[in-house]
Amino acid sequence: MSKVMAVNAGSSSLKFKLYEMPEEKVLCSGNVERIGLEDAIFGMKWGNESEKKILPVKDHAKGVELVIQGMLEHGIVQDMNEIVAVGHRIVQGGKYFSKSELFDEDTEAKIESLIPLAPLHNKAHLVGFRAFKQILPNVVHVAVFDTAFHQTMAPEDYIFPIPKEFTEKYDCRRYGAHGTSHKFLAQEGAKYLPGVEHPRIISCHIGSGASITAIKDGKCVATSMGLTPLGGIMMGTRTGDLDPSVMNYLCKCTGISVEEMYQIFNKKSGFLGVSAVSNDSRDVLAAAAAGNKDAQLSLRLFTRRIADFIGQYFVRLGGADLIIFSAGIGENSWEAREEICKEIAPALGLSIDYEFNKTLRGKEGQISKPDSKIKVVIIPTDEEVMIARDTYAFYMK
Ligand code: AMP
Repeated sequence: MSKVMAVNAGSSSLKFKLYEMPEEKVLCSGNVERIGLEDAIFGMKWGNESEKKILPVKDHAKGVELVIQGMLEHGIVQDMNEIVAVGHRIVQGGKYFSKSELFDEDTEAKIESLIPLAPLHNKAHLVGFRAFKQILPNVVHVAVFDTAFHQTMAPEDYIFPIPKEFTEKYDCRRYGAHGTSHKFLAQEGAKYLPGVEHPRIISCHIGSGASITAIKDGKCVATSMGLTPLGGIMMGTRTGDLDPSVMNYLCKCTGISVEEMYQIFNKKSGFLGVSAVSNDSRDVLAAAAAGNKDAQLSLRLFTRRIADFIGQYFVRLGGADLIIFSAGIGENSWEAREEICKEIAPALGLSIDYEFNKTLRGKEGQISKPDSKIKVVIIPTDEEVMIARDTYAFYMK
């Protein structure tokens, strides 16, 4: 029995989950938010209990201390040396990482060199890693990359049609994101396809960030997010794919700078931009039901973009055996699933039990009927357990 921690460090936050491995039992989970402020928040849950404290947390190292203290105080660990390994989520692994890697000096330097590709995320991950390393110097640290699963794409799937020198000099290409989730979904989805020799899966991770991935034989062949998570389908606040001249045209029309417009495309577009109601799909659904035309349009746009990608990947894979819905919207919103399935069902030969679909919220289940040409399932994603699995594998080496 070994205790393994999965960590997701942001610029002012630190999310953690402690597992007993290999059982994958969650011992505790929590978050330190507002790091750097006098009124930071530390929250932790274990069993049926929880605690929340508001206190000054000057930096990530102090945040890590709080996490370890909390675990000791509540008897989740008797000694911090019981924690044998820590897995760190890293958003951008660039061209260097096609799998999880031991967090040694070389890994650290490569992650640092990738900061220009993910300025906010990679910088924060390194701050988090260094804080953990300071407090737990002798345990195995592993870097688990959001982009790694997508490194199996062929050049024609990841190269942008831009001048070759930009691709080569600046490593400007499609990297994708949510790879840890898509890998988890591919592994879990395999159980619905016994005896299928070359399983073809389309996994739809649809939350406030959303991406779709085409998977063949357990490997990614195409994914919807691009250089950054801004690409692909429309999201809570992000545009998804756009004609690149939209940037140029709007900057000229408005006088807004490229940087500011980029922020608008990231933070004020998608559901929020089109509906002018909210970035949260629940609010948008409620407004649409109450007759708000912009909210209705934003939902139609969302559904259409997802259907288009599923159709594209159906062709890319030469057919499909399984479609998976996951993440906040995919797991919880029967309305979104119904609309998407209705859009793709005639072309792809889906037969869906729409009544059963209505009953599924946040739990696994199959919504396609036996006569459907493609199985359609809901699988709640679990990126943390995937981080813990990869980290434990390094510890066992
Ligand atoms: P995530 O980023 O995976 O946490 O997903 C967040 C998104 O999931 C938000 O747009 C939420 O509105 C949506 N979501 C969460 N619960 C529900 C629900 N019960 N019904 C509809 N959407 C939901």
